[in-house]
Amino acid sequence: MIIPFSAIFLNSFGIVPDMKKLLLFLLYLSSSLCAEVNFADFDSYQGRCTRGEIESKLGLFLQKDGGVGSYFSLTDTALTFYNDAETNPEREVEYELKLATEGIPAEQPPMRKDLVGVKIAIDPGHLGGPFANLEDRYIDIPPSLERSESIKFDEGTLCFLTAMYLKLLLEKEGAIVMVTRDQIGSGVYHDDFFDWLKKNVHLWTEGSTLKKMFGKYYNPLDLRARAKKINQFGPDLSVVIHYNSQDGENNGPSNHTVSPVNYNMVFVPGAFCQNELADQDSRYEFMRLLVSHDLHHSLILSQAILEKFSEHLLVPPVTKADGANYLNRVGIKIGEGIYARNLALTRLIHGPVCYGETLIQNNIDECVKLNRRDFVINGVWCSSRIKQVAEAYFEGIRDYFLTCGKDKKIGSVELSK
Ligand SMILES: [Zn+2]
Repeated sequence: MIIPFSAIFLNSFGIVPDMKKLLLFLLYLSSSLCAEVNFADFDSYQGRCTRGEIESKLGLFLQKDGGVGSYFSLTDTALTFYNDAETNPEREVEYELKLATEGIPAEQPPMRKDLVGVKIAIDPGHLGGPFANLEDRYIDIPPSLERSESIKFDEGTLCFLTAMYLKLLLEKEGAIVMVTRDQIGSGVYHDDFFDWLKKNVHLWTEGSTLKKMFGKYYNPLDLRARAKKINQFGPDLSVVIHYNSQDGENNGPSNHTVSPVNYNMVFVPGAFCQNELADQDSRYEFMRLLVSHDLHHSLILSQAILEKFSEHLLVPPVTKADGANYLNRVGIKIGEGIYARNLALTRLIHGPVCYGETLIQNNIDECVKLNRRDFVINGVWCSSRIKQVAEAYFEGIRDYFLTCGKDKKIGSVELSK
């Protein structure tokens, strides 16, 4: 679960600020607003998009509810962003984009014959190892009548090893690959969690637990650091690697109980919910997704990767019957298993991005496969299932560069003509 940055802002400062909240506010400023967004980046899109194109992107991908609409206005001739919601009569224009009467057809990613020289960023989700418990991203299923041994592994480690094997496959083909974190148990933010804690004693409030401090404050900083590192690398595409889980029978926690369902899904940017345009950098990213090809290319990439998940892992995309009800609450369904979702990394990473959620780790059969120790990646004994997941990402990425979604459709969205 990733906390939207705007939610942190509102939760922390929705009431009269006291000293602690002021310090929190300064921390927030130093970590987010200094991202220095510049709307002039969109000057090259002046007079290129039509109102119809903007409306279609808003409806299909970007606007989860009407609340976000109070930060911009749309006419036949201009899309105008404001620095506050329409309830503030003194708000000012932040940026105005002149619209065209005739659209320019969506540009396809350049089709290639091979992967030589393409730049690919991989973000293995979470930290894993000693942090898995703090992150609440681990599986620990006790022995039962069906299994004489307990099953223990953690998502951050699976993600990291998947990234390492995917890097190997891509580099063999001549790609230039950057993996955001370099070992199991570490993130990307410049201070490790415990060093950061020592520097932020003012956050140790009554009732705070290490888990809460990690989830509420440290994790958002780490996610921002990952996005920043990726954007500085300037990749042709990015993949964010996660493994999924779902509450077990009788709503038992996914860490300790098995689930009968197993599925894959992928997220692309979009589905901004109410208040998620309250900060300037979110409005900047929203504008980028509206005018650039990033969303279109993310769809082509994510569709290609999801197809390979199904083929290679023999596990289907999520369906309604699987009971992942949060998808309807926070996401917009684009096709089977493909959802727009406003996660920190779908929003902040520039360029085509696929946020993959493979497999239900605590599925009754999958947990046994993932717990095997029949393969070695980076000197670590692990499951050959991880190799298969990396191969699926690899095949999907290859497909993206070599076929560019030609003749593919997702629901009503035509990817390429
Ligand atoms: Zn995850």
